[in-house]
Order: sequence, then C-alpha cells, then structure tokens
Amino acid sequence: MSKDSTSFLTRLLDERREQQSFRELRLPGDKIDFCSNDYLGLARNAEVREYIHTLMEERHPAHGSTGSRLLAGNYEWIVSVEQDLADFHGAAAGLLYNSGYDANLGVFSCLGRKGDTIIYDQLIHASIRDGVRLSAAQAFSFVHNDVADLEKKLKNATGNIFVAIESVYSMDGDLAPLAGIAAICEQYNAHLIVDEAHATGIIGNRGEGLVQHLQLTGACFARIHTFGKAVGCHGAVVLGSGILRDYLINFSRSFIYTTALPPAALAAIEAGYAAFPYMQAERKKLSELIAQFRAGIVNAELLPGTTPIQAVLTRGNEHTRGIAQRMQAAGLDVRPILHPTVPKGAERLRIVLHSFNTPEEVAHLTKVLQA
Ligand code: PMP
Repeated sequence: MSKDSTSFLTRLLDERREQQSFRELRLPGDKIDFCSNDYLGLARNAEVREYIHTLMEERHPAHGSTGSRLLAGNYEWIVSVEQDLADFHGAAAGLLYNSGYDANLGVFSCLGRKGDTIIYDQLIHASIRDGVRLSAAQAFSFVHNDVADLEKKLKNATGNIFVAIESVYSMDGDLAPLAGIAAICEQYNAHLIVDEAHATGIIGNRGEGLVQHLQLTGACFARIHTFGKAVGCHGAVVLGSGILRDYLINFSRSFIYTTALPPAALAAIEAGYAAFPYMQAERKKLSELIAQFRAGIVNAELLPGTTPIQAVLTRGNEHTRGIAQRMQAAGLDVRPILHPTVPKGAERLRIVLHSFNTPEEVAHLTKVLQA
C-alpha cells in the first residue's frame, strides 16, 4: 500500500491532535481507581470469582456457545438466566444481548417503523443514538430531563411513539425525573424505554434499578440492564413482555446475526446477581463516599447528582486534559471527558466512586482537585 493511501487518515488524526481531542488507549497502572464502572468491586471479588468457576463446572459442558441463538447457540442455561433476570427485575420476559451497545442498537433500530416517532433525551447514550439512526422512524431529542419539552415533542409525534431515557445519565450522573416522564408517556400513549445501565446494582434495596425502586415497572415498555458496570462482567438484558421478546428474536439484527454469549459470561452474570441482594453495606458505604466527595468540593463546578458518577466541569479540551494529567501524576486514575464525546464547553472530569474506595482515598482526591 502506498504511503499516500493513508494520508487522509493522518490528516484527520492531526485535526484531532490540534483540537486536543486525540483518543488514546491507556493502562490504569497502579493508580487509585476513580475511573472504572466496577462500582461495587464485583469484577475483582474473590468469592464471586470462585462461584463463577463452580457454575462453569456445574452448569454446562462447553465453554463456547457455538453459534447464534437462532442456530446452535441456544442452550438451556442461557434461557434460564434470561428468566431469572426477568424475575429479579419484575418483568415478564428477558432477552440477553452481547453488550449494552448491542442491546440498544438492536432494540431501537427495529422497533420504530416508517411513520413512527422516537423521542430521546438529548444526553442519551451513543448506543441509543446509533440505534435510532438505523431506524426508519422519525426522531427528535428533548432538552435533558425537561418534561415540558418532552410534552412539546410528544404533541408533534406520529405513529407508534417511543421515548428513550436513561435512569442514571452516564456522563452527568444525574437521575431522570422518571415519575413525571412515565405520567406524560401514559398521557400520550407513548412507549417508555429506560436504559438502567448505571442504576443496575446501585439503586434500590437489592440493586434492582430506579424503575423498580419507584414501582414504575408497569409504566415501561422496555428496560435495558447492562452487566459491564456494577455486575462486573459483560452483556445486557432487555426486559419487557413476552411479545416484545418474540419481536426482538425475529427483527433485532444485533441479536440475530451474532454468536451467543458464552457460558463464562452467563456464570459471571449469575454470580453478580447472586451477590446484589447482599451488598447493602457496600451501597451504603458508596453513598457515604459520594456525600464526602461532594462536601469536599467547594471551588469547582460540580454537576448535581447523588450517584457514583460525579462530573466536575473543567471546560476546554486542553484545560481538562491538563488537570487530568496532574491528577494522574498524584496517583489518581481520573480521566478527562473531552469534546466531541461531550458538547463543547461541557468538557469535564468524570469521577467514579466505588464501594472499595476508602475515605482517605476520597480525601486525597478532593484535596488534589481543590488544588
Ligand atoms: N447505555 C449506557 C447508558 C451506557 O453508559 C453504556 C456504556 N457506556 C451502554 C449503554 C453500553 O453498554 P455496554 O458497555 O455493555 O456495551
């Protein structure tokens, strides 16, 4: 291949470097974790790990799933985990996907048909945006968490209407006004779909998520729980009616045209969910650390939010990157979130607190941040 054939790539990368938005893969090293989504430490919990090995031995004789769910990749364990997840979350049925990205892509691309409308919060995750883009439905965003603006958009909607929100927003860490949104969706006959990625394991007495915590399961058409965060592993489930499950099996391309999750992933999902009800002390400690962190930040622009995702607005790619580098030098794994991942002017440090962080570590974090 001639050198010239990649020059357009070099040019685009140079533009990124000029905008200080060049993305790199970094290893965390031995810094204090204020970055990972392993909120409860389950991804590295020794008891969970042992249980995963036991399940792998006992439940299934193979370690590969060997095909798509519609061909050789369907096995008893995967079906029973789906029903267990549905039971845990108070839903009629569940369908597993290989990741939260796949679930959102697969759900939103196939639900809305020509003449239908999808309305989504302006801060919705990229996976839902991509699903919406693949859909034949018309789509509008509404102002973040603004029920009045959502109502305006609902008034102009046609066909089947779908409303997409997150219960905990992945970059701002704030909660959706779920009760208000559910009421307005009911009024306009809209199908509410809630992505519970960052609420799973964290919100509710058993970590069941915001929808169940507020007793709003009946108001949701579908819920998406992902396993790469507090569950500490990988994959996602879409919860809803049995008819929704059948529909997705027939029309959702990121479910159909891919190899099913392997048994090791099922073992990790089952083990993580087995641990959730016993993690009340961890959830309590996490909320204490969140309160400690928020009380320790006085001179910075801290976004409101009571979840483990704490966003400190720093504004500007160069400035944000510089602060993150200083935090890294102080032994803190804090990462910058830059434009274009967030809008210009909303660049930030996305600080993630975990139940395994100590009050001393959080005190060190706030001290360095304040400096
Ligand atoms: N939804 C939200 C709100 C997320 O934050 C993420 C992960 N960043 C996803 C979906 C995608 O989940 P996964 O990492 O399992 O693909």
